[in-house]
Amino acid sequence: MAVHGAVPEAREIKRAVVTGGAGFLGSHLCEHLLDRGVEVVCLDNFLTGSPTNVLHLMEHPGFRLVRCDITDYVHVPGPVDLVLHFASPASPLDYLKMPIETLKVGSLGTLHALGLAKDKGARFLLASTSEVYGDPLEHPQREDYWGNVNPVGPRGVYDEAKRFSEALTTAYRTSQGTDTAIVRIFNTYGPRMRPDDGRAIPAFVGQALAGRPLTVAGDGSQTRSISYVDDTVRGILALAFSTETGPMNIGNPDELSMLELARRIVALTGSSSEIGFIDLPVDDPKVRRPDTTLAEQALGWRPTVPSEEGLRRTVEWFAAQREAAAAQAS
Ligand code: NAD
Repeated sequence: MAVHGAVPEAREIKRAVVTGGAGFLGSHLCEHLLDRGVEVVCLDNFLTGSPTNVLHLMEHPGFRLVRCDITDYVHVPGPVDLVLHFASPASPLDYLKMPIETLKVGSLGTLHALGLAKDKGARFLLASTSEVYGDPLEHPQREDYWGNVNPVGPRGVYDEAKRFSEALTTAYRTSQGTDTAIVRIFNTYGPRMRPDDGRAIPAFVGQALAGRPLTVAGDGSQTRSISYVDDTVRGILALAFSTETGPMNIGNPDELSMLELARRIVALTGSSSEIGFIDLPVDDPKVRRPDTTLAEQALGWRPTVPSEEGLRRTVEWFAAQREAAAAQAS
């Protein structure tokens, strides 16, 4: 869906900048880009990410890690063909702890990342989120739904930062002629999520592996649609390498309740953990499911990893991390 102006020719991508590249999604993006023969400059201030996430890439001749807070400035010598803007706290626990940092990276950070793309004549891709739909009154969510967000609620810092980023990206497209795309990513999970980031899957897996009760919010009937990281990254890169502008949903329409998710994780880990219930966070969305028709039609993309398989891989990764930590401690 080209929403503004003429669609440019798909360009050759030789060198990409990934802001937030040492985070969960960013590190997988860096890896996939290098696999495709694209040089990567990874910019990160390690606010919620870690150099450990890209340690395995450090020896790669096409990879460079630069410590940089993109709310201050951004300077990348040499040519750049693509800027993937992923820097931002992303888990509710993180952005509730860091509301100003979240708003700054969504506003000033996005401004600097767009400025870099404009200066270099590069394509720019914004990592937006299903949170722009807020607690949605339409279900599933299509890209033309405007959302139901409380700007002054606790989650507003993240939701509104992303909505502002989308507006800024669109303004650069329409007024500055920058080649931009917006991806609205739905809940994604997989290896390299932080065990303590507060998101449901790492929390449940950690609790199940430790034999502690799983803490399901509310009565667990609220739903999410979970996408395995390889599927999400494939979709993001399909958009990045296309001439589409978005906004475009990337996620897995396979929707399940939080209680069902907790039960599946208990079964997959073979844990004897019980399921307990905690208070529902303020403004927690009751339902969430992407309509991915646009991505299917425009990019020929659809998710291929069933949740059983993705959760199994994720549980195996967390279990291996725990074992390695225990071995190191002994
Ligand atoms: P993450 O916290 O693992 O990664 C974010 C990265 O950004 C971290 O490495 C962090 O250190 C870095 N960062 C934060 N502020 C920065 C700054 N000022 N300068 C430089 N680096 C900075 O989170 P994630 O899950 O990988 O999410 C990455 C992006 O994708 C975010 O923009 C998020 O909003 C978006 N997103 C993620 C999901 C998901 O399910 N994971 C869903 C929707 C959108």
